[in-house]
Parts: sequence; C-alpha cells; structure tokens
Amino acid sequence: MNPMEYPMQIDGAPVRSPRERAVALPFDGSQVGTIFEATEEQVNAAVEAAGRAARQMRELTLDERSAILRKAHYRLLEERDEMAMAVCQETGKPLKEARMEVERAALTLLFSSEEAHRLHGEVVPMDASPAGKGRMGITVREPVGVIAAITPFNFPLNLAMHKIGPAIAGGNAIVHKPATVTPISAVKMARLFLDCGLPQGALNVITGPGGAVGDMLVFHAGVDMITFTGSAEVGQRIRNLAGLKRVTLELGSNSALILEEDADIEAAMPRIVAGSFAHSGQVCISIQRIYVQEGIRTEFIDRFQAATAKLAIGHPYDPATDISSLITVDEAERVVSWVGEAIRAGGKLITGGGRQHATVAPAIVADVPPHVSLCRKEAFGPVVAVNTYGKLDEAVAMVNDSDYGLQAGIYTRDIQKAFQAARQVHVGGFHINETPQYRIDHMPYGGVKLSGTGREGPKYAVEEMTEPKLITWRV
Ligand code: NAP
Repeated sequence: MNPMEYPMQIDGAPVRSPRERAVALPFDGSQVGTIFEATEEQVNAAVEAAGRAARQMRELTLDERSAILRKAHYRLLEERDEMAMAVCQETGKPLKEARMEVERAALTLLFSSEEAHRLHGEVVPMDASPAGKGRMGITVREPVGVIAAITPFNFPLNLAMHKIGPAIAGGNAIVHKPATVTPISAVKMARLFLDCGLPQGALNVITGPGGAVGDMLVFHAGVDMITFTGSAEVGQRIRNLAGLKRVTLELGSNSALILEEDADIEAAMPRIVAGSFAHSGQVCISIQRIYVQEGIRTEFIDRFQAATAKLAIGHPYDPATDISSLITVDEAERVVSWVGEAIRAGGKLITGGGRQHATVAPAIVADVPPHVSLCRKEAFGPVVAVNTYGKLDEAVAMVNDSDYGLQAGIYTRDIQKAFQAARQVHVGGFHINETPQYRIDHMPYGGVKLSGTGREGPKYAVEEMTEPKLITWRV
C-alpha cells in the first residue's frame, strides 16, 4: 500500500473510493497524504456495519470494554512518536504541541477504560410513592446504539478519543467523520483499535466533506446519536436537522480572562501567553478577550508584549517552534483582516498581526470597541483584545456580553471577588487563578449559549451515550 494513502475503515477493512483528495501540511501546502471521499453507498455501508457491530458491543462485559480501551491506551503510547508526527502534519501545529495531544489522547482512553468499570445505574425508591408500595426498581445503563462522531481539525486525535473512548465504554458502535483536512490520525486510530480487539465494524472511519458526508450521517435512520465538536454554525445546522436523534454539541467560544489589580501578573504570564497563542489560538477555549483592571493596564500590556515577543515562529517540525501556521491561508487572511477591522475602529496594535502564507505573528490589540468582530465572534487565531475596566461588575458584564459561554477565568488574590465572578459569569467552566484555556481530560467540559449543549470528559460523555433503562418488579 502507498504509505501516503489513508483509506477509510469500514467494517474492519480499508476502503477507497474513486474520488481522491490530497492532505497538505498547512505550513507550506506540501502533500502529506491522500484520502478518499466517501460515496453515499460507503456511508450506508459504514452505518450498517456499525449497526451489526452495535449488537456485539452491547453484549461485551464492562471488563471486556475496559480491556480494549486499556490496550488502546498502551498501544497509543507505544506509537506516540509516529502519531505525534501524523497530528503535526495534518494540523500544522508545532510538533511539541502534537506530542502533548498524543499524551492527552492516551489519558482520555485510560479514563474511558476506567469509566467502563464504573458504569452503573441506580436503585429507585419505588415506595416513596403510595402507588409504589411492594415494588422495587432499578435502572441499568444501556448503550444508545450507533453513534456518529463528527470532529474538528484543531485536536483531531484527542477530541476524537473524547467521543470514541466513552462510546466504547458505553457499549456502542461508532461511525467517525474527521475533519477533511485532518483525517490521518483518525484512520490510524481505527487500525489501532482493531489490533486491540475491538470487534470488526465497531469503529468505522469515513472521510469526505462535511456538507455531503456529514449530512448523510445526520439524516441516516441507522444513526441513533450524533456527537459533534466544531463551529456553532455547523452545530446549529446539525441540531436543526437531527430530528429526534440524541445530539451533543461542543462548539466554539471567544473566551475571556479577568485580571484584577491584586493579581500576580508575573506568575500568571506564562499561562496567559500559552492560553492565548498555543496552536496559534486555534483552541476552542483560547483566550480571545482580556479585561484588565485600570491600575495594572500598562504593566500588564508591557509584560504581555515582552513575553509574546519571545515566542519562536517557525516550521512545525522544528522542536523549538512555538507558533506555526493556521489551518489554511484563508483563515490566516481572515484573522489579519479582523485585526485591521479592530484598528480601524480605534483599537491600538501592540504587537503582531503580520502574515506569511498561513502563519500569523501573535497579535495583541488594546482598547478594542465591543462591536467589532474581535470582541463579538470567535477569532480562532493568534489574536487577543485587551480592554480595561474599573470595577469587577463591569468586567463581569463585558465577559457576559457574548453569544458564547464555554469557559472563563480570573486572576485575583481576593477569594470573595473570585467567587463573585465565578457565580456571575455565564459559562460552562470557570477557573480561578487560571486561564479559560485550562482543560484536563476527565473534568466535565462543555458550554452554554452558542458554545453548545451536553458535557464531555469520559464520565459525562458515557452518561450521554447510554440510556437509563428502568426495570421494576413486585415483591
Ligand atoms: P467545523 O467547520 O464546524 O467542522 C467540524 C466538523 O464538522 C468537520 O468534520 C466538518 O467536516 C464537519 N461538517 C461540516 N459541515 C457539516 C455538516 N453540514 N454536517 C455535518 N458535519 C459537517 O469546525 P472546524 O473548523 O473543523 O473546527 C473549529 C471549530 O470547532 C471552532 O468553532 C472551535 O471552537 C470548535 N471546537 C470546539 C471544541 C469544544 O470542545 N467545544 C473543541 C474544538 C473545536 P469538513 O472538515 O469536511 O468540513
């Protein structure tokens, strides 16, 4: 087989189609692989294979499911170097970040394996109702069946494992559609899972454009649940088209950070820089808006600019690189145009914003009017808007002035203020003395408003991917 070819995986076998498509390294456009666009027949075949495998999956004991996931955890660690290079090539993220993603994906599988052992229902206190006298009841958690997992480009491996791991723990079969630009790690993982004893057809990977292949999955009568991570726009479309299918949506954000005057800015700076510019800001919880209290504005901006200037911009394969390309030249051009819009509206460019091919120099813009794209929409690029506030209430109001609500954070030494903000900011997760970009893989993770519905993290995803079936009996 051509090592550059990544055929789909349907019913345990590699499958090609007449329509080939090149996979490119975003940094320079060089070809790193070839994939195939699924035909309608192939989408149907994948769903049917998953339907057959779902019957087998539900009969696996919890320990058998856990063992498969544990094996996959260890195999992924054994193959970490190869997998990190695959993630680096398809996303263009710096190799050191790709390595971190592989380690996290392996942990996500381990957490999923542990959740398989813990999957249980509950005892229902039937006789709490007069009509329940003499009865007992339990719930058991049953798999939902066939799950379509649709994933984005920015963490192609770990975000896929956040769906595949819990789906297997819950006894389901999966059809995975990765982002068209980042399919390589998905195909590799399907092969890895087969080697780890996952029944044939329990994990199918189909590739091709979301508008066609994704729609087919969303409409398919053989799909019981859609778990989607991606943009709010596509998420809303899926929600509207999915009918009565179960849907979980992990969508975008324009995450905000509050910096109170008493914060230890120097200690926080490495976290703020990483939280703003890791993977060139293409992280759903990347810091996009910073609200800094008046008294420390100048000190903060000076320190932020100096720390940002130290980031090494370069080729993603270079282990020293901190900042590499965005996913496409078009995306890089859009980010640069948003910086321009903010400046025309009165914002002050502190640093960055230059573009070479798909790479954008990390940008900081101060005093950005709240109506411009940089404050209102999701930038998904290496750019941060810094604005000033007087009292904490104002900062909270500005954080909440967003259509999104994924995560937010505050740095302060004042515990009262920290918890005031934690209670008042409308998001799925709030971090005190940490940036909104903080995520560890077993915590509950998800958003409110346009940031989505449902929670991930293996424990929470397994709940979404299983049904509590009630069984009662008269004693
Ligand atoms: P996207 O454009 O929404 O695409 C996500 C996935 O949906 C891709 O596999 C895409 O396929 C597919 N798709 C596109 N149109 C579809 C349709 N009509 N029906 C079904 N599927 C369809 O997002 P992206 O650009 O890859 O990723 C960036 C977005 O993901 C950002 O908004 C980011 O915030 C969000 N995100 C959220 C989280 C979270 O956990 N909350 C994590 C990471 C990323 P194609 O690639 O073929 O278009």
